[in-house]
Amino acid sequence: MAYTAESAWNECLAIIQDNVSPQGFVTWFSKLDPVALTEEDGESRLTIRVPAPFHYEYLEGQYNLLLRSTLSRVLGENSQLYYEVVVLQAPKPNPEHKTSYKVPASTDRHPEAITPPQLTEANTPKVKSNLVGSYTFDKFIVGDCNNLAYSASKAIADSPGGTAYNPFLIYGGVGLGKTHLMQAIGNHVREWKPEKRILYVSSEQFTNNFVRAIQKNQISDFSNIYRQIDLLIIDDVQFFGGKEKTQEEFFCIFNELQQNGNQIVLSADRPPKEISGIEERLLSRFCWGLQADLQPPDLETRTAILLRKASEIGLTLPGDVIDFIAHNITKNVRELEGALVRLLAQATYSKQEITETLAKQALKDFVQRPHATLSIDRVQKLVCEYFGIDQHRLHEKTKKREIVQVRQLAMYFCRELDYTHKAIGLQFGGRDHSTVVHAIKSVNNLIETDINYRNRVSDLRRKIHFLSD
Ligand code: ADP
Ligand code: MG
Repeated sequence: MAYTAESAWNECLAIIQDNVSPQGFVTWFSKLDPVALTEEDGESRLTIRVPAPFHYEYLEGQYNLLLRSTLSRVLGENSQLYYEVVVLQAPKPNPEHKTSYKVPASTDRHPEAITPPQLTEANTPKVKSNLVGSYTFDKFIVGDCNNLAYSASKAIADSPGGTAYNPFLIYGGVGLGKTHLMQAIGNHVREWKPEKRILYVSSEQFTNNFVRAIQKNQISDFSNIYRQIDLLIIDDVQFFGGKEKTQEEFFCIFNELQQNGNQIVLSADRPPKEISGIEERLLSRFCWGLQADLQPPDLETRTAILLRKASEIGLTLPGDVIDFIAHNITKNVRELEGALVRLLAQATYSKQEITETLAKQALKDFVQRPHATLSIDRVQKLVCEYFGIDQHRLHEKTKKREIVQVRQLAMYFCRELDYTHKAIGLQFGGRDHSTVVHAIKSVNNLIETDINYRNRVSDLRRKIHFLSD
């Protein structure tokens, strides 16, 4: 069949959609345009337009294999993908001014404290940025859990308002680095583009300042300040929930900044669709640009963070102490930092060397206890509700794949909550301990190989941990 660029790309998209998460698909593939399909040197070349250099790098880094195999399936072995990468040069005054460059897809990659904003001078308005200089990119440890948020933050810091990612929303639980990353964007811009007006505020400070402005009859001063900002960073937007007047004001400021090509960076403690009490029109705007989530750090990242934080305070920790902390303090980075400080204090006061024994003693309150608050039955209910199946089906002797997978996942979460293999087996229709071990292995395999599945597991884990805290 003779393809056009468009029909070939549509067919590729249909395959890609089955292999990536819905959010990944919208973020990375829906903004690509097929521009040409040519035959050269016996090769079918499909060129797709990519909205920004960072977007291209991400596709090449994360989806190169998928793109290559998809293209071969649609256009045959002798096919090659080309990217036309758009470089948005000057968002102001002429946002249409774009150039682009063309690159072939690579073929040899492996998969892999704060005051209200004030004008400081009448004519050259400057605002106090509220940035904390120690939050920088080079102090941020990157792992699988935060890679996307980190690379997008860097791209935005290099070119605020100049990428397709406006607004940029970072979301994730407490202590995972949202504030750090947003502040790092601000600090980077302050260093490299000192003429830019930057303002970091939490949504609560925004609200308080707005209320004060109403009381003092200074609404127009308030909104003028915000409208002049080149990079507006608002932390924890979930606290806008239920504050209608503040949302209205923020909505106007948001629109104006966005239309003028000024960069907006937001954070929230959960995905936008789960934030309650925020008007639909504002929520949908939060999703216009790019959303990136932060997951709890994996073991490797926790180890790297501990090594780095220890060396920052001039401490060399024995390997078994690092291992003990990294294995036992798993929820977030703030707790890891707290654990280090506690350990250091204990060692100093007791004039003892830091050993695993001392670490166990010093950190006994930090080490997570089994989440006994959530019963196995409750976990089963939550998982079944999520997948829309009846709970009693988990106890059936069926080999139906969709039931087996849900059962295995429910077992996996029970194990995460520290129930023993034996206790889990008993409550899943009297199965034995080796069935549970096997289930957990299967879930781990799927997490490694299937991005859709991995996203669902993270989503569910958030719900379960939310209830078990
Ligand atoms: P959040 O805003 O998501 O609650 P923070 O940005 O305040 O989290 O991070 C909590 C602490 O952990 C801060 O001291 C921050 O510097 C540190 N931190 C978080 N993530 C990382 C990381 N990936 N590398 C180094 N430090 C981190
Ligand atoms: Mg924060």
